[in-house]
Amino acid sequence: MEKIKMSTPLVEMDGDEMTRILWQMIKDELLYPYIDLNTEYYDLGLEHRNETDDQVTVDSALATKKYGVAVKCATITPNAARMEEYDLKEMWKSPNGTIRAILDGTVFRAPICVKGIEPTVRTWKKPITIARHAYGDVYKGSEVKIPGAGKAEIVYTGEDGTEIRELIHEFDGPGIVQGMHNLNRSIESFARSCFNYALDTKQDLWFATKDTISKKYDHTFKDIFQEIYEAEYDARFREAGIEYFYTLIDDAVARVIRSQGGYIWACKNYDGDVMSDMVATAFGSLAMMTSVLVSPDGKYEYEAAHGTVQRHYYKHLAGEETSTNSVATIFAWTGALRKRGELDGNAALVDFADKLEQATIGTIENGTMTKDLALITTLPDVNVANSRDFIRAIRATLDALLQA
Ligand code: NAP
Ligand code: MG
Repeated sequence: MEKIKMSTPLVEMDGDEMTRILWQMIKDELLYPYIDLNTEYYDLGLEHRNETDDQVTVDSALATKKYGVAVKCATITPNAARMEEYDLKEMWKSPNGTIRAILDGTVFRAPICVKGIEPTVRTWKKPITIARHAYGDVYKGSEVKIPGAGKAEIVYTGEDGTEIRELIHEFDGPGIVQGMHNLNRSIESFARSCFNYALDTKQDLWFATKDTISKKYDHTFKDIFQEIYEAEYDARFREAGIEYFYTLIDDAVARVIRSQGGYIWACKNYDGDVMSDMVATAFGSLAMMTSVLVSPDGKYEYEAAHGTVQRHYYKHLAGEETSTNSVATIFAWTGALRKRGELDGNAALVDFADKLEQATIGTIENGTMTKDLALITTLPDVNVANSRDFIRAIRATLDALLQA
């Protein structure tokens, strides 16, 4: 078979620990044999981030702006223990945070559904994608412990000196207050990313807040979504046969549990943080969650939702066998290759991405899987594979598919 050509490079962001090992295996076994892989390579491994004073992370994000599509391996977010372990010059910021800030994107997370890994919620038949707003609210809040009786107020002072004051509470004893903010600009980006992604994936979009109680804060989110929808997306949604609807967060939660899945659920920052863990766990496994950062101007960065699987990496270094699940990392590659193919009109690349996903799912459904899935599957007679043998089993399934 002739290898598939790529006209535009894909931005490749390598990473750390066990996922870095899987990254190389995936390229060697599942990509190089089939594609003339055209990537612009950035090594976001912690050592190289440290050597470049984290410039490499910024460069990789700028390259994503230029080319439009990136695929990223999981990376270490340094903490005190990592400072010592890697002898770091500085506690570098989370690469995902840096990339998100440059692309101004929204993160969409969706489970990969396979037969034999059944969701806890029996009615769920299709994936539920969570879109989490990644700016502001309680994550950029200011908090004060109130020592005793007294008045707490919100004060805004405009550049021209005009003041707005709003009473929070007349305290008669100790208590607490919290101030938080968001920006119309950021909410607008969030809304556009969600509407674009819904059109892109042909799924309905749900959005929910607590606007009945939060009549200015949450209501502004609701209004901005509605205005942008009506002005820019209504006709396109109708044409695509999909729907946007807004409801209260309590109603959304009840509807999600009763639903069959197959839609995007847009959440404010805190709701998205909490609900994405709930949805991921109820679908079966963190190792089966994909994640894509989408900017409002249509740039895409694909990755797995899980981290670098540190514990498995130390076993690997000690020469022990690992059975680490590579599915979400493989789907990061297929997501990126498919998007690259769509943008470039490269049908062969799109078709290859589809087939590699089919082969991955088929391998599991035929009973070969890693240990994490073997522990929760409802399939009988499971063959538990190590990290490399699982990828090789996918290759065998893929070869059969490509020859069919
Ligand atoms: P993690 O890498 O997601 O792993 C936590 C545990 O979940 C693992 O120990 C493993 O459980 C299980 N697991 C996760 N992915 C798996 C897979 N593909 N196959 C099999 N089991 C899997 O989270 P962490 O250990 O908290 O974080 C490790 C590093 O990742 C940290 O330095 C963190 O900063 C980084 N991180 C990066 C990203 C990112 O780049 N997007 C996201 C999150 C965390 P068992 O050990 O029980 O088998
Ligand atoms: Mg969380």
